[in-house]
Amino acid sequence: MNDDHDLDLAVRLLAGTPTHEGRDPALLGQWARTASEFGRRMTLRHETVRVIERHETVRVIERDGGLEAGLFARYRSRPPVVEVYADTVARAERLVAERGWRHWFPEGSVRAAALAHEQAHAWLHHAPVRAEFKRALGHTALRLGRRRLYAYVAGADEIAAHAYAQAACGLGRSPLLLTEALAAAVSFESEN
Ligand SMILES: [Zn+2]
Repeated sequence: MNDDHDLDLAVRLLAGTPTHEGRDPALLGQWARTASEFGRRMTLRHETVRVIERHETVRVIERDGGLEAGLFARYRSRPPVVEVYADTVARAERLVAERGWRHWFPEGSVRAAALAHEQAHAWLHHAPVRAEFKRALGHTALRLGRRRLYAYVAGADEIAAHAYAQAACGLGRSPLLLTEALAAAVSFESEN
């Protein structure tokens, strides 16, 4: 049931992403499901992920200004650094309490999910993972004889990263729910 709600959110994210205007909702649903599944599976069996993990230590930096920028965290590749926005994390924790969502997002899970989310983005940037992801999504850009070239599906990384964070942190709902609710709450506060 909750999975269905999270899938709806993922489909909406794709539908609102440039290049997907007017696409068949069934196709968007298929991409959303595949991207979520791929993200979840990254926690379990991704050999590549484990190899990358061993070679890459990512430093974490805390900073403010996330609410203004609309960010929980941000990954920078050179050198590998994850910036966590403490103000966004704190506001999201308050939102969880206000909405009665603690059973889905336990205390402290917002920061953990933000870190996991950025870690997933970092993995999805690696060529072998990226190639496998594109193959799984199956968005064909070009056919050359028997060869198929796959196109990037805009927004799919975001869905996979949320699904990874949910699985890695054992959350009852996708952090996408929190992201959307927070965006709505913050824009309401700034307008009033
Ligand atoms: Zn992201």
